[in-house]
Amino acid sequence: MKATGKKRLALPAKLLFSLITTCALTTASYAQHEVDSEEAEAEPIKINGNENAFGSSQMAYAMIMQNLQRINRYAWEETQDLVAAIAAREGVPTDHIIVTAGSGPVLSMTGMWKGLEGGNMIIATPGYQQLARTFEAFGGTVVNVPVTPAPELKHDLDAMEAMINDETQILYICNPNNPTGTIVDPDKLREVASRASEKTLVFIDEAYLELADDFTKNTMVDLVRDGKDVIIARTFSKVYGIAGLRIGYGVAKPEIIKELRKFYQGGPNILGAVAATASLQDPSWYEQSRMMYIETRKMVTDAFDAMGIEYAEPSGSFVFFKTGMPIQQFQAAMEAENILVGRPFPPMFDWCRVSIGTQDEMAAFIEAVKKILDKDAA
Ligand code: PLP
Repeated sequence: MKATGKKRLALPAKLLFSLITTCALTTASYAQHEVDSEEAEAEPIKINGNENAFGSSQMAYAMIMQNLQRINRYAWEETQDLVAAIAAREGVPTDHIIVTAGSGPVLSMTGMWKGLEGGNMIIATPGYQQLARTFEAFGGTVVNVPVTPAPELKHDLDAMEAMINDETQILYICNPNNPTGTIVDPDKLREVASRASEKTLVFIDEAYLELADDFTKNTMVDLVRDGKDVIIARTFSKVYGIAGLRIGYGVAKPEIIKELRKFYQGGPNILGAVAATASLQDPSWYEQSRMMYIETRKMVTDAFDAMGIEYAEPSGSFVFFKTGMPIQQFQAAMEAENILVGRPFPPMFDWCRVSIGTQDEMAAFIEAVKKILDKDAA
């Protein structure tokens, strides 16, 4: 990776070392939950935005520090380095990759492109709305297909496929789904997506897939490799933990990437690009982040089991559970405990999406749930 080259070490070595050390200490203390107590009292526990509470890769921090004095430059070379690293990860040529400011723009660009052509798109409800909203704003019609009944809450792939008609422009599958957190059977998805891609563009949003049990079995990127009309969207905002640097990407065949580029609104920033490339080269952070998510998620579902609270089987960075009370009321009660949980997700107004925070944060959350839902005996 060129960005590690000596020519980029613009900061004096001593200063650089002290910045990296400060940064490393800061993250280590987050990981150990040694949060300053006064600060912890003042700051609400933010488990409403599916952010990574465990921090980010040390290698990403180091690259950010090395490139701090290069923010006067455009990120052309760094973006090329990132595209090459992503293409290698996905097993596709570089012309199959489009890098954006978070994966959100891949969803929006697709919505603009297809929305302008009219017709309809199919999405599960409740589901992640960014693509659907853009598609509708640009002239398309959204067809909502309910997820399967609770507590399963999965995409109903048969019902979604059955809704495809001559006017259908996009079949959108969010896997794991946001907000339900559920994943679909990979063989079934591969079968439905392959068939559907003969008739319409299939968009598979894999923002949380790294947190599922088996990434390799569940990713549908092989459909792109097979030349199908499929877009896979992925992000550095979740397991990699650099949401604030805004890096995501789409994987699709070059003809599709070319269409998306017509709606491109600018590439990544230089610090995000080098941090993302470094994150891809730090498998130990990836594993650490994954394990912390999975362990803490289990701590939450174990507590829900003990309390007899219904939830959908989670495969992402959050858990969707039944509060049995209006979500606004539950949110307000949580806020009174200094805890912020997810917004309403129509039409499931007595369910709540809680993001996975640190173990201390989730222990506080569990205590608050006991109090609010009157589960003290559990
Ligand atoms: N897709 C899904 C399912 C999401 O939940 C999110 C954000 O939470 C995104 C895409 C967009 O995230 P970002 O733009 O940070 O990559």
